[in-house]
Amino acid sequence: MLKHKEIVLFCVVVVVVLFFLNFFTAVHWAFFLLLFFIWFAITTWGSFDIRLNYFTKAYCSKIKSKEKEIALTFDDGPHEMTEKVLDLLKQFNVKATFFCIGKQIETNPDLFKRIIAEGHLTGNHSYSHSKNFGFFSVQKVLDEIFATNRMVYELTGLQMKFFRPPFGVTNPMIAKALLTTKHHVIGWNIRSLDTVYENENTIFERVKNKIKPGGIILLHDTSQKSVNVLERLLLFLESENYSIVPIDKLLNISAYDN
Ligand SMILES: [Zn+2]
Repeated sequence: MLKHKEIVLFCVVVVVVLFFLNFFTAVHWAFFLLLFFIWFAITTWGSFDIRLNYFTKAYCSKIKSKEKEIALTFDDGPHEMTEKVLDLLKQFNVKATFFCIGKQIETNPDLFKRIIAEGHLTGNHSYSHSKNFGFFSVQKVLDEIFATNRMVYELTGLQMKFFRPPFGVTNPMIAKALLTTKHHVIGWNIRSLDTVYENENTIFERVKNKIKPGGIILLHDTSQKSVNVLERLLLFLESENYSIVPIDKLLNISAYDN
């Protein structure tokens, strides 16, 4: 798959060639415009689809897995609904991975501690989860990641190594910040869209149809709807003999610094 730096280099080379050609024969301005649109489309696509690894390496599944194992991940908590998610996971004896927002941990520290106490993993999902995260400077991204890591360290003594960017958006600023923090970027390959669709059946069917060995499922522990989908999903995975594993087991990487 192409990377951001290669695309930029390619575009620069084409612009230089077009300028050079312009000395001999007039190059129509539309060629420059077309090149700009191609660059813009690829960059936008690369920003919004974390699976492309366009700006930074992201783990989105266990590649070529043949074993019936899958990971459940929950974003945007801890939230009052996290209680219900934890109850269900306990009932099914399943361990999952929670990507938590710093602000939410600040509001619900006991819930965060419960996630850890019940044997689940946690990862950094920024401090503010701002809609403008994709426009933050490198320093601002660093501040967000460090603030959440520090908070979790003070609460639990754990130094989180997993990071999931808000909305799955990546760009050169986020990529550069991650070179400093050295977090593992964790994406997904089974997106439930449980914050977009209203209908539980639609969400459940969407996830069910995408289930495959080595997959990483993205859900949100922020609504009753998602809790209901989770219950159906746990029953389905059980009937299909899938084992649900936390991200560190699926990918063989550690969630915390020693
Ligand atoms: Zn999120």
